[in-house]
Amino acid sequence: MIAVTAAVILHDGKVLIAQRALDKKLAGKWEFPGGKIEPGETPEACLIREIQEELGVTIEVERFFTETEYHYDTEAIRLLAYIARWIDGNFQLTAHSQIQWVTPSELESYDFAPADVPIVKKLKDILSKN
Ligand code: C5P
Repeated sequence: MIAVTAAVILHDGKVLIAQRALDKKLAGKWEFPGGKIEPGETPEACLIREIQEELGVTIEVERFFTETEYHYDTEAIRLLAYIARWIDGNFQLTAHSQIQWVTPSELESYDFAPADVPIVKKLKDILSKN
């Protein structure tokens, strides 16, 4: 089981989603950005590093949100999702084809990577109650 982190980055009532680049696995699928945890790394440190590398911005990790598991054809992943805030920097994408800031109700019109679907559901449930 590979441990992967995902950031649910909130800003002005919207959430950031990112579309996987066409040369990657799950090309074109939308996801909460993040990546594989390296040996000795905490999930929070992994997320800060991955978001800096992939999106060029600094985030602050606020709290653990949820955990999902998914068995892809070639690998099984445990996806750890955290609520985060964008605190510094301008977006410069190195691993995604595009990003979008969306409202909770807009989330369902995007085609997410399967491991991210339970995160979408939990997020909609929580944000729609606010
Ligand atoms: O981005 P990267 O390819 O390093 O991600 C490692 C694995 O985790 C891939 O199988 C990817 O599809 C999966 N992943 C995911 N949802 C995310 C982030 C990564 O399913 N939000």
